[in-house]
Amino acid sequence: MSSAVVLDGTAIAERIKQALREELAGLKGKPTLAILSFQTPASDVYRKAQCVQAVTLGIRTREHTASVQATQVDVEQVIQQWNSDPTIHGVFVHQPMPSQIDPQRISATIDPRKDIEGIHPQNSARRFFAKARIGSCTALAVMELIESTGVDLIGKDAVVVGHSEIVGRPVSMLLLDKLATTTVCHIGTDRAGKLEDHVRRADVLVVAVGRPQFIKGAWIKPGAIVIDVGINVVNGRVVGDVECEAAKQRAAYISPVPGGVGPITVMMVMKNTIEAFKLQQRA
Ligand code: NAD
Repeated sequence: MSSAVVLDGTAIAERIKQALREELAGLKGKPTLAILSFQTPASDVYRKAQCVQAVTLGIRTREHTASVQATQVDVEQVIQQWNSDPTIHGVFVHQPMPSQIDPQRISATIDPRKDIEGIHPQNSARRFFAKARIGSCTALAVMELIESTGVDLIGKDAVVVGHSEIVGRPVSMLLLDKLATTTVCHIGTDRAGKLEDHVRRADVLVVAVGRPQFIKGAWIKPGAIVIDVGINVVNGRVVGDVECEAAKQRAAYISPVPGGVGPITVMMVMKNTIEAFKLQQRA
């Protein structure tokens, strides 16, 4: 018998969308989001989801789908064009990028005022000092799910598994901002044989690894909040990084895959596009 409350990311995303609709109605002009994706099935699915939400909100989109053979210069040229185009307010580059492209150089190429993922070094620094104007979309989605539980994070043991620049690191910063005692685990933690111990004491567990059902249900601390960021396709089915059914027996709250972090992340892209638009209107 399962006991955890399953957090409904689709319903939360719908609530955010309603608030964004009202905000857009009060703006002078409409924001435009420019999306650079790559010709891969995963990037294609995510691009379509972004475009559908943008269209239904009345946010304009500009798209460029790069070949998986695109060079660093090809991608940087598209971004530079968008940077200098005053009719474009947000620039979003899909990750992961093909291996010949250096993602850090791409992050630094995006105009920081148009950087929807908060990955430009200036925006990363602002996040470090808890002064982000535009934050990582996935990290913000994780925090929305955690906050929907109503649980106070002060002094809670939060464990983030994964330390990537677009998920693990920004999530850990946001948890620190909420005064959670935050531990970041990664591949080194696993190699040292210490991952299970860390997970077992997590009051709040956020997993962003990209390995199907990697975190075992038996490791979950009874009463924990479990947020599963992972997206893995196994036999045509999308599954997360957490052994969900077993974890439900122990957790108090759990985010499902699909229907958890994903829909909120897409809505955060829209929210950040509006923030970037407002920032540029003020300048
Ligand atoms: P990444 O490949 O950049 O990083 C993976 C992280 O996992 C690294 O920090 C690495 O150290 C860690 N890791 C790898 N093997 C490990 C192990 N054995 N033990 C412990 N840690 C290990 O991935 P990412 O971009 O952060 O994405 C992670 C997952 O989240 C992927 O499945 C991705 O598809 C998904 N994702 C979902 C959303 C969403 O909106 N739902 C957004 C972004 C990413």
